[in-house]
Amino acid sequence: MDTPTDVSPHEQQLVCSSCGATPPVEEQAAARLTWSRGSEGGRTTWTCERCSRENLRSIEGKLDPAWW
Ligand SMILES: [Zn+2]
Repeated sequence: MDTPTDVSPHEQQLVCSSCGATPPVEEQAAARLTWSRGSEGGRTTWTCERCSRENLRSIEGKLDPAWW
């Protein structure tokens, strides 16, 4: 019963809403602190550190979260 691909149902998988990147399991806790969290339609969305930085420039012109 040791399936590394198994994700606990209560643990939300972090997925960058911009580039689709997912942090390694051992970095999920850290990612929750460094990634940018937002909400969209009642759901929590995450943006990885790198994309957050790049989004800062383009986010002013247009808001287009439906990129993935
Ligand atoms: Zn990203």
